[in-house]
Amino acid sequence: MIVVLDRNISSEKLEVITSELKNFGFDVFQSNTRENITLEITGNNSGFDLRKIKVLEGVIDILGITEQYKLVNKKFKTDKTIIKINNVEIGGEEIIVIAGPCSVESEEQIHKLAKIVKTAGAKILRGGAFKPRTSPYSFQGLGEEALKFLRDAADENQLLMITEIIEPSQFDLIEKYTDIFQVGSRNMYNYPLLKVLSKSQKPVLLKRGMSATIDEWLMSAEYILSGGNPNVILCERGIRTFENYLRFTFDISVIPVVQQKTHLPICSDPSHAVGFSDKIPSMARAAVAANTDLIMIEIHDNPNKALSDGPQSLTPDEFLLLINQLRQIASIIGRKLG
Ligand code: PEP
Ligand code: MN
Repeated sequence: MIVVLDRNISSEKLEVITSELKNFGFDVFQSNTRENITLEITGNNSGFDLRKIKVLEGVIDILGITEQYKLVNKKFKTDKTIIKINNVEIGGEEIIVIAGPCSVESEEQIHKLAKIVKTAGAKILRGGAFKPRTSPYSFQGLGEEALKFLRDAADENQLLMITEIIEPSQFDLIEKYTDIFQVGSRNMYNYPLLKVLSKSQKPVLLKRGMSATIDEWLMSAEYILSGGNPNVILCERGIRTFENYLRFTFDISVIPVVQQKTHLPICSDPSHAVGFSDKIPSMARAAVAANTDLIMIEIHDNPNKALSDGPQSLTPDEFLLLINQLRQIASIIGRKLG
């Protein structure tokens, strides 16, 4: 339930209401938006007489939320979440580009690609250090060495970095290096991992599970917010459907749906969705036209030799051409890109 308060309420009155609600047995989360101050209350309210809340001085209304997710719900917080890291604003007017290789393969490779990423005007460098591969015989990533290379390459080019965390035990190590944690599609339901990330203030990019419904995905985001971390970016990366011609089916329609249901920024990852580099530019253009907040593209200087996801990696030239097109599309819909 949402308790809507008088926007000019004094901090003393707010404290009284909060402690009353806690006395009633509810957990209380506060949100201040431009329009109002709201308290999201969770806990068992069956049989509870809501008039006890309505009569508290400063309470204007009580709203029921039918969806299970509360804190990620746009009904709870109407302002879009803007995540600021250094001078980058995620979820603001600018569409943020994340680019880099699937895996960090060597120091030389990531430095070379970081320069391309910077030249394109992208803001975030990606690269896997710990790879969740379908086959145990595939390349599993360079581990901590890759984190160091990625951090240096990002710093040298004034970029932010993002890398994937696979299990809770990696938290301290990855936190030392990264600006943003990535939770992969295969881990969207890994609740122990989400709980650990909920205790960090570093942003989390939460990929949609490949067979997850929108509600399941938003509930996973709710785990992170309810633990205390408000900085979540949702990422559509393709879902499994009856159609198997491409790697997955890129669910572009989820962009406006998510923007209607939540205040969180949405990223689109056509690379993992379609899986073939020749189909990625058109899907990236479509995602920008559909008003995505971020776009993630995998690139490689020699895709045929890539240790993972070569077939879906754009070459530097293909990437730079694409970014120019995306910039034009962004301006048509009233946004900026890089
Ligand atoms: C990745 O981004 O490299 C990755 C493994 O993505 P996903 O979890 O979407 O498969
Ligand atoms: Mn990949």
